Amino acid sequence: MLPFEEALERLLAAASPLGRTEEVGLLEADGRILAQDLVSALQVPPFDNSAMDGYAVRVAEAGAGAELPVSQRIAAGAVGGPLVPGSVARIFTGAPVPQGADAVVPQEDTETLEGARVRLLRAPQAGQAIRRSGEDIARGSVVLAAGERLTPASLGLAASIGLDRVPVAGRVRVALLSTGDELVMPGAVAPQNLPPGAIYNSNRYFLHRMLERLGCAVTEVGTVADTREATQQALQDAAATHDVIVTTGGVSVGEEDHVRAAVQALGTLDLWQVAIKPGKPFALGRIGSARVIGLPGNPVSSFVTFVVLVRPFLLRLQGARHLQPTPLQMPAGFDWPRPDPRREFLRAQSQPDGSVALFPNQGSGVLTSLAWADGLVDNPPGQPIAKGDPVRFLRLGDLL
Ligand code: AMP
Ligand code: MG
Repeated sequence: MLPFEEALERLLAAASPLGRTEEVGLLEADGRILAQDLVSALQVPPFDNSAMDGYAVRVAEAGAGAELPVSQRIAAGAVGGPLVPGSVARIFTGAPVPQGADAVVPQEDTETLEGARVRLLRAPQAGQAIRRSGEDIARGSVVLAAGERLTPASLGLAASIGLDRVPVAGRVRVALLSTGDELVMPGAVAPQNLPPGAIYNSNRYFLHRMLERLGCAVTEVGTVADTREATQQALQDAAATHDVIVTTGGVSVGEEDHVRAAVQALGTLDLWQVAIKPGKPFALGRIGSARVIGLPGNPVSSFVTFVVLVRPFLLRLQGARHLQPTPLQMPAGFDWPRPDPRREFLRAQSQPDGSVALFPNQGSGVLTSLAWADGLVDNPPGQPIAKGDPVRFLRLGDLL
């Protein structure tokens, strides 16, 4: 059984970036990996502009109590003339500050007087309420570097420098394959008609969506019968047209587990069994140019191995710079006196008092634990935990 760190290292070593890139519209780019630096061709903001609704003034003329005529009105989108000496300009948020003005007095600090005049109640500081050209982005600067994973905020940033399309890593072509003769698809059979011995396929749903969120194009191979022939045939077919094949189940030690032998027959098996809990049965192999990842069948094991091992692997295939989220240090709100000798990933929830609680049933088949959890406690092999001890907390939201 391979220690977790070593398994991760081998996975990453097997994930040289695919190098395919494509241009996509900003609205399609969320979650994708940027393929080139984005360099700004302009200053943002492009011009000095007012941060408030108020009056553009010359500070030297704008002492407390000064009464000054309003010589022009500048709304956002308009451009005013130079500020007439001895006057102020009515100005609105986002409007260009007129030449000669060196501060904006917010409307709240003024009183309007008869005959288009205002009284200033407070003297402004030089530069007050002016957003300077380039204070957000200087022309020529890199706003987002190649390898960044795009977020809604970064899409807004790209738009602010005038881009409507961005170069991103091409989608990883992933074939998703379930194994297990007991599996039935929800919707195909109603719960009251579920045959004895059957269960619904749940892994397919979270794996499919997590793969898509991570920038993969997913092909559903469906459920493959628990025979060596069927498993081998399905793997061989999928390998020809995919970068990665992800299987669930059938990778453990029983006679009904055919994935490992099928991979060995068609290609090579590079790694099998990782010292983590949940999730010991985990395989990495290769068939032709396709990587094969065999996930455990137990739903929680399948989910956990996906987020801690497969996720960084898929991100690296797309050239991502950050492969792992930064864990939080949080105090345990529980005792864990009998740790496993394997590295454990416990289903946990952050509490309003800042501590972390554990789901009472940590079984590898208990999906309610994951739906309840907002994170995983990442516990080193054999490490007992007492209430109040700091633990490593991985937020699930950072792992999707
Ligand atoms: P296996 O690794 O094939 O022995 O499967 C381990 C356990 O996970 C068994 O109880 C299976 O019934 C269950 N299992 C396997 N695949 C799935 C799946 N796609 N959805 C839900 N449970 C599964
Ligand atoms: Mg099975």
